Amino acid sequence: MLLLILRELFFSGSYLVVEKSYERPIFDMHCHTAGVGAGGSGCFVSKELKNNFRFKVYLKAFGVTLPEIEAKGDKVLLERLASHLKESRRVGAAIILAMDGVIDDRGNLDREKTEFFVPNEFVAKETSKYSNLYFGASVNPNRPDALDRLQWAKDNGALLIKWLPSIQYINPEEKSFEPFYRKLVELKLPLLTHAGQERSFTHARDELADPVRLKLPLSLGVKVIVAHAASTGQNEGEKDIDRLIGMLESYPNLYSDISSMTQINKPGYLRQALKEKRFKGKLLYGSDFPLINTAAVSPWYFPLNLTRAQMKSISAIDNPWDRDVALKEALGVSSEIFTKPQEFFGINW
Ligand SMILES: [Zn+2]
Repeated sequence: MLLLILRELFFSGSYLVVEKSYERPIFDMHCHTAGVGAGGSGCFVSKELKNNFRFKVYLKAFGVTLPEIEAKGDKVLLERLASHLKESRRVGAAIILAMDGVIDDRGNLDREKTEFFVPNEFVAKETSKYSNLYFGASVNPNRPDALDRLQWAKDNGALLIKWLPSIQYINPEEKSFEPFYRKLVELKLPLLTHAGQERSFTHARDELADPVRLKLPLSLGVKVIVAHAASTGQNEGEKDIDRLIGMLESYPNLYSDISSMTQINKPGYLRQALKEKRFKGKLLYGSDFPLINTAAVSPWYFPLNLTRAQMKSISAIDNPWDRDVALKEALGVSSEIFTKPQEFFGINW
């Protein structure tokens, strides 16, 4: 009863005026896959993560079990992803992200420190089998052959390079990365990089995910997309999202995606991003699948913005992408944000 009264008092409705549903198929530029190495994929997850409750939650979100992966190979995750996506009424295709690991002082992959590894070769090969999946590569610039790897990624259809600096131990402001950044510009490969606090893994160096560290690639002309608008986390006593907003006017090549911004641990960030004028024309739709298909995201977490009928009807939507789009639409995400990835990556279908 008290809750109902409080809700009546504080109900504020959608973050922005809700538009009519966007009709054309949407391009999701931020989706993950994973793997345990089954079927010779080359993927691995650390023992720590495999035993962590999160790993089971992720697999469930894909609609697979560990025994099934072990029997059919890691490629079953992409097969499942492609078919869920095919069933979506709203989202037509998606970029699936590879994930490079930590590189040690001798330039080798540090398997001890890498929690989660998805090789480019695996994602390139598997995404090429499905018309609705696109390749998002990941190259740690600390690799001695990083430039060759960028070239390989481009030659094999990569649409972007993905980093998770806080868990790959990449410091974006490192001067020695300049050739890497120049190669990204030459190959017209945007950099999708995580900023803000990272809690999907068991440990992270959050200071590396400070958006201010991206000034070096930005000043060299790299198109940078900051994942989920740097929501959560802070550096030097300032919220990461505010540090990012402060840079938007100085760098026309700086963008952001709205993936995972409806998660329960990120209250208020989507509202801030949608209402912030400096983000206008800079936001791209992304889902962060499989996270959208876990208990971390639910319309029931927005009792002050959605009516009971909306929360009920959105949560009843079976397809994870359709549910994600419906939720974001009801919160006021504009058609401009849903169309942006297709235009940004020049995808025609
Ligand atoms: Zn993500």
